[in-house]
Order: sequence, then structure tokens, then C-alpha cells
Amino acid sequence: MLALTAAATVAAAAPAARAATVRTGKPSTAARALAELRAGNARFAALREIHPHEDAARRAAVAVSQHPFALVLGCVDSRVPPELVFDQGLGDLLAIRSAGQALDEAVLGSIQFGVEELGVPLVVVLGHERCGAATAAVEYVRTGKPVEGHLARVVEEIAPAARATRDLPGDWVENTVRSNVARIRGRLARDEAFGKARIVGARFDLDTGKIAFDPS
Ligand SMILES: [Zn+2]
Repeated sequence: MLALTAAATVAAAAPAARAATVRTGKPSTAARALAELRAGNARFAALREIHPHEDAARRAAVAVSQHPFALVLGCVDSRVPPELVFDQGLGDLLAIRSAGQALDEAVLGSIQFGVEELGVPLVVVLGHERCGAATAAVEYVRTGKPVEGHLARVVEEIAPAARATRDLPGDWVENTVRSNVARIRGRLARDEAFGKARIVGARFDLDTGKIAFDPS
């Protein structure tokens, strides 16, 4: 009975303790945010995820306000969900996703919301291996064949990266992915709306699950 009572007491106290961790444990600088993302991805790549911040206490804590510690602009690709590949939970990441991380005013406004309104210190532009949007942009540049419908807007946005890399050695799609991340990162870095945040590029490797951050 004593053991049961003790267990019940611990269980009752635990949510409050976790809530306290939620409030005080958030990385508050870009360097700490980057370190947390690196650590989370290392867990993901090693299949040692801890799936943090998914319990009842976290739900209750973030129900009243949100304080994400990093913003991830990633692709819509179903294999690269930011919360999973960085092993984060509710309220941790402000995730913005568009095919090939293509920028438009809605995406830029969403980034501004994260940086200015929520004070997120770190923006990660996350490209990935074998990106379908980059492949479509390469095909578009290679053949000149018009792209139908709304996809044309996405392809046009990535086409400069495909054009810039068409004569480089190596895999054209892979080079386009890397160039596209660098171009988007540069564009965000030059925009004073995001001046308060550190902006880094990164690439997700589908085969290993590892994310490599660009030197910046
Ligand atoms: Zn993609």
C-alpha cells in the first residue's frame, strides 16, 4: 500500500514538474536552439527518439500560449515532417512547409509571424534528398515544357536553382536541392523582417535520417 501511495504521489506531482520544465527549459538563443535540433535529429537518426512534449501536461501548457524555440521552413514531402526528424513535440517548432520550400508572400508572412511575434531565434531552411519539387524544376529547365496549373508557381520559384547548377558535375537534382536551400537562406538573410533571427540552411538525408547543417 505504501508503495502504491508513493507512486500515486509521484504521478500527481509529475505534471507540475514537467510543466515547470516546459516553461524554463526552452532554448532561448539561436545557438542553443541549433544544439537542441542537432541532438533531436541525432536521436531520430539513431532510432532513439524520446518523443518529448506529447503528454497531458504539455498539452495543457501550450493550450494557453506558445513559445516555439525554432522555426523550420521545410518541404511538404511526407518523409520529412519537422517534428519527427528533429524529435520534438507540441509547441516546440513553428513548422512552415511548401513544396521545395518555395517562398511566396504567405510563407514569408508566416516566417515573420514566428520571428517578430513569437520571438523565435532560429530559422532553419530544410531541404532534402530526392526532392520532387527540385526534380520538377530540373525537368522544366531541361525540357522547357510548361508546367500546368498551380504547380507552375512552385517550379518557377525553384527553377533559378536548377539553372544555376545545370553545368555543374554530379547529380543535377541534388545540386538543385542544395542551391535552392542556399538561395532561400540568402533571401531570408537579406530581408530585414527576419533580422532578429539566425537563419541556417540544412539538408535531410532520406537514407540515413541525418540532417547536415550548412556552415553559416
Ligand atoms: Zn521536397
